[in-house]
Amino acid sequence: MSIIVQKFGGTSVENSKKILAAARKAIRAHKNGNQVVMVVSAMGQNTDILIDLAKQITDEPPAREMDMLLSTGEQVSVALMAMAIDTLGYKAVSMTGAQIGIKTDNTHGKARIQKIDAKRLHEALDAGYIVIAAGFQGVDDENNITTLGRGGSDTTAVALAAVLNADACEIYTDVDGVYTTDPRMVPDARRVKRISYDEMLELASAGAGIMHNRAIEFARNYDVPVHVRASYSDEPGTLIIAEPETLDRPVCGCACVKNEARITVRGIPDKPGAANMLFKAISDQKIAVDMVVQSKGNDGMADISFTVPREECAAALRAVNKIKDQLGFDCCTHDDEVSMVSIVGKGMVDQPGVAQKMFQTLGDKGINILMISTSEIKISVLCPQDKAIEALRAIHDAFELDKEPTLLDIPEKQADKQEVDKVSMINRLHGMEDLFIDKIELDDIQGRITIENIPDRAGLSCQLFKQLADAGVNIDMIVQSQGKDDMAKISFTMPQVQFNLAMTVCKNLPGDLAQTSIANSCSQVAKLTVFGTGLKSHTNVAVRVLQCLAEAGMNVGMINTSEATFNVTVPAEFGEKALKLIKEEFAAEIC
Ligand code: ASP
Ligand code: MG
Repeated sequence: MSIIVQKFGGTSVENSKKILAAARKAIRAHKNGNQVVMVVSAMGQNTDILIDLAKQITDEPPAREMDMLLSTGEQVSVALMAMAIDTLGYKAVSMTGAQIGIKTDNTHGKARIQKIDAKRLHEALDAGYIVIAAGFQGVDDENNITTLGRGGSDTTAVALAAVLNADACEIYTDVDGVYTTDPRMVPDARRVKRISYDEMLELASAGAGIMHNRAIEFARNYDVPVHVRASYSDEPGTLIIAEPETLDRPVCGCACVKNEARITVRGIPDKPGAANMLFKAISDQKIAVDMVVQSKGNDGMADISFTVPREECAAALRAVNKIKDQLGFDCCTHDDEVSMVSIVGKGMVDQPGVAQKMFQTLGDKGINILMISTSEIKISVLCPQDKAIEALRAIHDAFELDKEPTLLDIPEKQADKQEVDKVSMINRLHGMEDLFIDKIELDDIQGRITIENIPDRAGLSCQLFKQLADAGVNIDMIVQSQGKDDMAKISFTMPQVQFNLAMTVCKNLPGDLAQTSIANSCSQVAKLTVFGTGLKSHTNVAVRVLQCLAEAGMNVGMINTSEATFNVTVPAEFGEKALKLIKEEFAAEIC
């Protein structure tokens, strides 16, 4: 019999009427011959109300007691939901995290699921019950109640779908699916029929707040099809699966984080271990960095710029200034009126000119780009905050995201799903939320050029990449940061065979770009890429890579990060050795 997991968020169960409506959806799925597990969140704003209550008692509630308190929100809604189903004439049983068998580690407030023993769940389902599971909670080894972090019911739902080998995981919410961008900012935004896990992960970390990121990581790691749909209608919604909606288009969506802050650390001695020291100081404060770019100067010094959510700016500055003497940098500046705008799409991997089109669009609107960071399937730029929405709209237009694409055909999944035996399932799910590394790759046939003294004005990065594109240079990694005297500095890599061509273009730049200079170039660098999931939520991945390179005395050139990839360049002769070291470092996590 097929199993369906249905998750209802806070707004979908905020009153008795909505609880009854949700109950009917579950009953309908049950009547259609499915075994049904419902996962519910706390009603409406209940979690916030509980947090507020705690704050009235103390500013620093013990983390264990906070979890004890917050878990009650979900306990209320599961009980009411079971009553609703019962009164509609069907068998239902509610269960807490502990009763479902969700074991987590003991990091209260953001516990990670370690395993789920689904025995009791199966028994109840086999006996014909609709099971109503409390979202967002579990227990640690000593049976203390833990919670998974705000929005964690999504993660519970996808995790249960994974252990149960469910046929579908439906996320019912107050929007009717995933959009090409936030429709409140761009009215033309289109609901997508389908989006791939990788794209959804990148979009979510670029500011699209649809689902808990950890839930999507889970779905990707265990290949759980997730269906996001509206609780108030029967519209088809959006399917999150491995395959993208289309590959004809380079971009599937765009997003914006409005309140970002940029911190630039200038004049860092360009020697092994420097980047590592800096990011360790920040990650020790548990601050998640959004964009990171490092670029090199010609004076043996490196600059590193990175962005953090605005509310973390002060803490990040404190952490950086604390290591000023130890690291020996010149100065550290910041700007907290900036926004990050990103485009995401699997199709950009083999379509040239995508970055340039984005820069061009912004340049045409007179929007200045303050920082650039590219990765496999995402390009992010930083722009002045008052231009963010205009930038988002212009980009949405330029890539014609409002138009329906031709759907990519996907092969039908095998109808007779294999029965997974219990033992292998439990083994598979041991340490369910551990870091997953897919692969680590070395590309040592790249060249790098760094250009300095680019006037910090709208349209200039676009002109630069247009010159390069016109000459036929395929740009791979791009990082732009702020150099001295508010001049921008851009580093990029290209296939080694095109290095000389790119140098010629850069030496003969026309117009406003004529005053730029080539600060640094290298015809052969090695790029190392770590691919995986959870690279950002497991905040120490960057630090671990940088640390093992630093310990081996290797100097890191460019750095950039995204949700699913972490890239660094090192001198070409170190490529193989760096690959070996990074593989050893992550040996336990490579799948
Ligand atoms: N009730 C929790 C929260 O508001 C969990 C959830 O809604 O997913 O964060
Ligand atoms: Mg909630």
